[in-house]
Amino acid sequence: MDAKDNSLLISAYSADAFRAEAPRIMELIGRELELLQTDNSQKTIERRTPQEQLSFWQEDFDSGEPCSLEEFSEEIMERSIHFHNKGYMGHQVAVTLPVTALTSALIGYMNNCTTVYELGMTGNAMEKVVISHLAEKFGYSKGATGFVTSGGSMGNLTALVTARTSSGVREQDYPKLAVMVSEEAHYSVERAAKIMGIQSDHIIKVPAGDDFSMRTDLLESCYEEAVKAGKIVFCVVGCACTTSVGAHDNLEAIAEFATKHNIWFHVDGAHGGAAIFSDKYRYLLKGIEHSDSLIVDFHKMMMTPPLSTAVIYNAGHRKINEFSPKAAYLWQDQLSEEWWNSAKHTLECTKPLSVIHTYAIMRLYGDEIYRQNVDTLYDLGKQFAGMIREQNDMELALWPNSNIVCFRFVPDCGDINEVNKVIAEELLKDGTYYTVSTVIRGQFFLRVTLMNPLTGTEELTGLLQKVREAAA
Ligand SMILES: *Cc1c(COP(=O)(O)O)cnc(C)c1O
Repeated sequence: MDAKDNSLLISAYSADAFRAEAPRIMELIGRELELLQTDNSQKTIERRTPQEQLSFWQEDFDSGEPCSLEEFSEEIMERSIHFHNKGYMGHQVAVTLPVTALTSALIGYMNNCTTVYELGMTGNAMEKVVISHLAEKFGYSKGATGFVTSGGSMGNLTALVTARTSSGVREQDYPKLAVMVSEEAHYSVERAAKIMGIQSDHIIKVPAGDDFSMRTDLLESCYEEAVKAGKIVFCVVGCACTTSVGAHDNLEAIAEFATKHNIWFHVDGAHGGAAIFSDKYRYLLKGIEHSDSLIVDFHKMMMTPPLSTAVIYNAGHRKINEFSPKAAYLWQDQLSEEWWNSAKHTLECTKPLSVIHTYAIMRLYGDEIYRQNVDTLYDLGKQFAGMIREQNDMELALWPNSNIVCFRFVPDCGDINEVNKVIAEELLKDGTYYTVSTVIRGQFFLRVTLMNPLTGTEELTGLLQKVREAAA
């Protein structure tokens, strides 16, 4: 091979080749979207074993045969779960707005990133605009600030680190630090604490009540016990809502407790934070305006691809200090914290411009689209729960406050947990609907998160029928 031959590079960068290929891929997406919206017999998932998938792709890779992006795009789509199918009601992954397929292309091509101002001039400014808008929605004080990071897990970690450095605790006292959180919280909170070196017995799990929300009446006694044991509680985390069953902690009560003891109050609103856009469901977040920080995932209820999460600090509330306990700057002083150099604030160095998705959604459709999505999906959750309540062979784990519904089949005989495990497997094998499962206080439940706003009564009825068929 000629060392000087760069013809492959030249053709790969060819504008003509790109322009020929691009419409075909977009057409593929458009075709699937149409099919899934018009043909209800399409399966949501055709589950193949990991080994089957691996052999297929290994064989494809090894074949060395010429292929086009269009060909293997078709294959990728065919061998993947279809979130845009109305039968998709599994995990909390967004059914992306089609426009984000286009913004994804733009983001991928531009490759601006937000590390240092010049590398992402537009993105840095857009983040500021989007965050300010959200901060106002959440009722944060003027001057609130934040950024977009790669996911809720990363967001919780970043906020907890900031809570610690802002707590004023000397580094030599870090081993004494403790955090309080509901026993029902997402595992990423505990993991973040552990990454920060917080000892397991300093992660204080406040028990949850019958409704799976934090028993805020126990906050004081848990706190007193911790203080007696020489722990320094620097942060309390509220859930809005929990992942497993969608329980909302009483944020007002937690805020009161946090203010009284001067503890940082962080809200994990990865899933349910979007309810702030709904007049009907905003009440679930009452008290969030008193928190010091919060996160909300754009890639869950706000319809973007992953990973894209807002971290917002209620700057008017407190002195905010990010990664270094010695850092002199405070966030009240907007000019010295250099918001335009995002890497000063995020755990990432290079970071994609995912905010473009959300900026585009806000700009093209306005907040109204979030309201419609939240109202539609939360209403759908209640509709489904109502349907289950009417079945005499099924039961709810609890009445849902969101689009997360946990239920199970109640058999005449046999082990209820085993029967439902079989049902879950059968549903997956069938693939018309994609549902998941969860274990609630030792009991196995089927779990759906209604994420597709186009899902309707037909799918909900269809699922119940499949459950019954599987049980038989
Ligand atoms: C999904 C979720 C997370 C984790 O967010 P990722 O974006 O998946 O990292 C954290 N907390 C809650 C409540 C969640 O639902």
